[in-house]
Amino acid sequence: MSHIDDETLALHALGEPVLDAAQRDHLRTCPTCATAVRGLGRVVEGARAPAAAAPADLVAPPPGVWARVREELEDTAGAADAPAAQSESSESTAPAARPEPSDLRARRRWLPALVAACTALVLGVAGGVLWERRGDEGAETTVAVAELDALPGWQGASGEAVVHESPDGRRQIVVSVDAPVPEGTYREVWLLRPDISGLVSLGMLDGDQGRFDLPAGLDLADYPLVDVSEEHFDGDPAHSGESVVRGDLSA
Ligand SMILES: [Zn+2]
Repeated sequence: MSHIDDETLALHALGEPVLDAAQRDHLRTCPTCATAVRGLGRVVEGARAPAAAAPADLVAPPPGVWARVREELEDTAGAADAPAAQSESSESTAPAARPEPSDLRARRRWLPALVAACTALVLGVAGGVLWERRGDEGAETTVAVAELDALPGWQGASGEAVVHESPDGRRQIVVSVDAPVPEGTYREVWLLRPDISGLVSLGMLDGDQGRFDLPAGLDLADYPLVDVSEEHFDGDPAHSGESVVRGDLSA
C-alpha cells in the first residue's frame, strides 16, 4: 500500500484511534511513516507537557504563539473550535487535548495544519537556539587568569591578566593595572620565565588596560609570569628592572 496520509498520521500522533489494521501493519514496517509519527509525537508531547517535563531539545514557544496559530487556522480553515490559548498555568488545558468524538470530524480539518504549524514553529525556535549556541561557540574562551600583585615600592598597585583563545587557536592576553603612572614613564607588559631567566615583551600598556596578541609558538608553561614594568623614555628596549605588578598564569 502507499504511505499513510499526513492527516491520518497527525491524528494518530495525537492519540486518535484512526488507523485501520492495514495501516497499523504498514506503520510497523515503513520507516518513512514511523519517522513521521515519531516527529509529530515529539511535537505533541512537547505541546502537552508542562514546561518542566518537555523534551530537552524542544523549546517552549513564546507567549501569544498559540493565539496566533489559532487566528491563522481560523482564517484558513474556518475552524470554529480552535483550542483555548495556553495560559501560564501548568494545569491549563493542553492545546491538543483529546477531542470528543462529536467534534473529531471538525478537528480532522485543522489538526494536521495545527501540528504542521507547531512543527514549523518548534523547528524555527530550535533553529534560533542552535544559531545562538553556534554564536557562543564562536566566542573566545578564557584559558588562564592571573591576579597581578604589587612589587615592593608599589604598595596599593594591583592588576589582572586574562588569556583568551578564539576557536581558530589565536590567543590574546588582556592586562589591566590599577596603579599611578609617574610623569615621564610608561608601562610595558612582559611574559617571564619562572626563574626570570628569560622574557618576552608583549608591548606598551597605554592606559589602565590593554589587549596583546600572544605569539603562536609561545608556550605559556615556559613563560607563565605576567609582569608590568615602569619604563623610561631612554631608548633602551630592555626591561627597566622596575616591575610594578606581577602574577603567575600557572598558579
Ligand atoms: Zn509508509
